[in-house]
Parts: sequence; structure tokens; C-alpha cells
Amino acid sequence: MKNYFDTHCHLDFLSNTDLAVEEARACGVNRILVPSVCPENFLKVIELADRYDGVYYTLGIHPCFVTNISADALETLEETILRCLSDNKFIGIGEIGLDFHIDDFDKEKMESFFHAQLSLAEKYRLPVILHIRKAQDVVLKYFRSFNLVGGIAHAFNGSKQQAKNYLNCGLLLGFGGTITFERSRNIRSLLKFVPEQSFVIETDSPDMNPSWLAKRAENSPKNIVRIFDFV
Ligand SMILES: [Zn+2]
Repeated sequence: MKNYFDTHCHLDFLSNTDLAVEEARACGVNRILVPSVCPENFLKVIELADRYDGVYYTLGIHPCFVTNISADALETLEETILRCLSDNKFIGIGEIGLDFHIDDFDKEKMESFFHAQLSLAEKYRLPVILHIRKAQDVVLKYFRSFNLVGGIAHAFNGSKQQAKNYLNCGLLLGFGGTITFERSRNIRSLLKFVPEQSFVIETDSPDMNPSWLAKRAENSPKNIVRIFDFV
């Protein structure tokens, strides 16, 4: 049996974590990365990594969670990073980034949180998990203004040129369920051009359902096997 790594999975948002991990392992998905999204779930992702072999985590504040968060969340983040530095299950900062697609977002606040978190990634020499929507070039501009060790552009959905720019910055591109849809022509043709060693696969469970799951069904890490076959 092959060994798989789901590089982006919000295990703490799944209805039955034990079952999801068990089913994933049964089909060879032995490693799962759980990104955090806000200070309220930092302890949850740490606890999940502690509970299961092969489960890793990153710490960060997701751009879609920034609106209702106070600035001291960044202090909580840094304190938590400092506490986790010696934990080998803690592997980076994320998910962080810019989302110019959601309604009523505070652009300035979102960019300042992103900037502050990239600065933490630089300070502690940690890779980043990036969430990018309608902001491919802006995210890269910020990324380039720091001296960073790399990371993953999760659910990548940019042009061929943008993909090249990301790869040139030492980032890997993450692809998930979206590529399994016939209508995702751009992203599917992009996949043909990206070198094998330059991308990773992810489920983004419980979201980003692949084509074979009903819209309302819950995505889970075992689906990485079919996503891999599809790729
Ligand atoms: Zn995510």
C-alpha cells in the first residue's frame, strides 16, 4: 500500500475525528497536517497532534477570521509559538493569507495581520501555509518582502505565470478536490505544467469536496487517495 500525506485538513472541524483518522489510515493516509485558524482552536490542533501519530499542526490566524479578532490575538499566537517550538509536531505558521473574496472584509486589518504573521515566520524560521483568494499577486508581494524559508500556497488557483512566480519563491502549490471537476479547466491544465516535486495534495476537509462527494457531504482525509489517483 502507498503512503499518503493530506497536507491540509481541518480535522478539528470534522464530526467524528477518530473515525476520519482511522478510515484514512486504513487506506494509507498516514500523515495529516492540521492548520489552525484562530486562537480558539490553537489548543485543539495541538491536542489532536498529541493524540494521533502522524498528525502535525501549524499555528496561525486565517484571513477569514481576522474581522472579529482583537490585536492581542497576535500576542497569543506568538506566546503559543514559543511554547510549541520544541514540539516536533509543530511545523509552521498557518493558515495565513489574504481573502479578497469574502463579503465585508476589513482589507487594512487583514493585510496587517498577514504582515505580522509573516514577520513571525521569518523570526522563528518557520514555513507558512498560505490561503489566497483573489489576491495572488498581493500575497506574493508580501511574501517577497520577508526572508522566508518557504511553504505551501494552499488550494492554488492562479495563472500559469503566477504559479511560476510562486515556485520561484520556493513555495509549493497545494491542489485538492477542485481539480476533480470537469469545469476546473484552468487549474487542471496548470497541473500538467507544474513539476511533480513542486506540488502537494490536500483535502481541506471538511470543505473543498471532490466531484464524487455530494455537495453537503463531509469531506475527509481518506479522499486523498482518489485525489492522488486523479492527479
Ligand atoms: Zn484551510
